[in-house]
Amino acid sequence: SGKFFVGGNWKCNGTKESITKLVSDLNAATLESDVDVVVAPPFIYIDQVKSSLTDRIEVSAQNTWIGKGGAFTGEISAEQLVDIGCQWVILGHSERRHVIGEDDQVFIGKKAAYALSQNLKVMACIGELLEEREAGKTFDVCFKQMKAFADNITDWKNVVIAYEPVWAIGTGKVASPEQAQEVHAAVRDWLKTNVSADVASTVRIIYGGSVNAANCAELAKKEDIDGFLVGGASLKGPDFATICNSVT
Ligand code: 13P
Repeated sequence: SGKFFVGGNWKCNGTKESITKLVSDLNAATLESDVDVVVAPPFIYIDQVKSSLTDRIEVSAQNTWIGKGGAFTGEISAEQLVDIGCQWVILGHSERRHVIGEDDQVFIGKKAAYALSQNLKVMACIGELLEEREAGKTFDVCFKQMKAFADNITDWKNVVIAYEPVWAIGTGKVASPEQAQEVHAAVRDWLKTNVSADVASTVRIIYGGSVNAANCAELAKKEDIDGFLVGGASLKGPDFATICNSVT
């Protein structure tokens, strides 16, 4: 449902030099018209990317502070992101949940509410650990993470949901199209029951976790996979363009 969406999460990678090259590759790429494309550089490079990248591609942060700026050492506020022309923010990424220890109710839901209130669009990430999948808890975990977002979001039009199973992130172990489709359909169903039929049918649910130029086409065919959130392969312009163009 909705327009195909591909995000490139550059994570904590890049230098001025490598990012100049990546931007120039992206500017030279031919992208299908029927796809929204967004890249998320590290905070300190957002300004450089924003001023050199084609407007065809929107720009995202990978995190933001929970509320209005002020005496919060080391943080970046939603207002500041908007000030430099950044349009999106990724929230609830598994690396922030599991490496940095961000938590659903306290941080992630509130960050989403505040970012949306400042007119940033949000990529809301959910996904289970391997041990949770093996224990049959995939849906429980994803629904709990969805609830933390849903408790804090009133208008979903600027939200994209990213299902990123933790065991597939950076491991080369991509979820099968069937595994991803199963969770996407379940999340859509959850939205129908817990938010509204309208949101369930219009919100985009994208898949992330070891997506590359070779496996994207099969995944993109699935009914409830509305795009991708790409890590490693988004650092290579031509591969990222191939993934963007896997829109079906
Ligand atoms: P990889 O594509 O490197 O597995 O990372 C996925 C991801 O975490 C995107 O947010």
